[in-house]
Amino acid sequence: MIYLKTEEEIELLQLANVLVGRTLGEIAKVIKPGVTTKQLDKIADEFIRDNGAIPVFKGFPNQDGVPFPAAICTSVNDMVVHGIPNDEPLKDGDIVSVDCGTLINGFCGDSAYTFPVGEVSADVMKLLKTTKESLYLGIDNAVAGKRLGDIGYAVQNHCEANGYGVVREFVGHGVGREMHEDPMVCNYGRRGCGTMLKKGLCIAIEPMITMGDYHLKFHNDGWGVSTRDGKPAAHFEHSIAVCHGKAKILSTFQYIEEVLGDII
Ligand code: MG
Ligand code: MG
Repeated sequence: MIYLKTEEEIELLQLANVLVGRTLGEIAKVIKPGVTTKQLDKIADEFIRDNGAIPVFKGFPNQDGVPFPAAICTSVNDMVVHGIPNDEPLKDGDIVSVDCGTLINGFCGDSAYTFPVGEVSADVMKLLKTTKESLYLGIDNAVAGKRLGDIGYAVQNHCEANGYGVVREFVGHGVGREMHEDPMVCNYGRRGCGTMLKKGLCIAIEPMITMGDYHLKFHNDGWGVSTRDGKPAAHFEHSIAVCHGKAKILSTFQYIEEVLGDII
């Protein structure tokens, strides 16, 4: 069931998503070699609660009912998504995808960014750049009158043209009072196919892109997902509202870029 949102609901969604953006900005301030992902999680958890919100990922059940134990997902290098924060220090040259969710005023925010740690190789930086570009190409297609397949096609075409893999098993989604609502928003598709996009549709677009093959390996903690070939993966996500003409981006990378500059 797809729920189209009113202007008032979209404003509330934006508040939740701006808090996600500010939380990612706090993470940007401290991310460097030697820091552990558990330390990043503590910062995020406290920042979200200090701002009157709930870190909605914490306790979120997987399909087997296993609750996610942290406020953020931290997926390092070949981990694609849903990495559980741990005590292993980040190393120079790592990348870490941080996915963050909030719940405030009854609405959810959801956004993700892949951070370089220290000095990252040029080929991995290109993966990050291409993935982020594909997110904005997807958003360019998230306008009333187009279809879901136009978003998927835009992401897939850009990433595959650069020789990268597009993850199939995980996709974007509607976002609202629930973090995961209908419809599924695939990062692959055919132009002109799929559900028609209408004003007020709010979705999270989140390309998960691999340097090599897109096939995945599932960890036995019930959450972590890595590339099967061990090559790195990137993940950028914005929550957006479909409008006529141009989508409204509800989440923001502004607070990250104020810290790191526009490096990706
Ligand atoms: Mg997310
Ligand atoms: Mg999401």
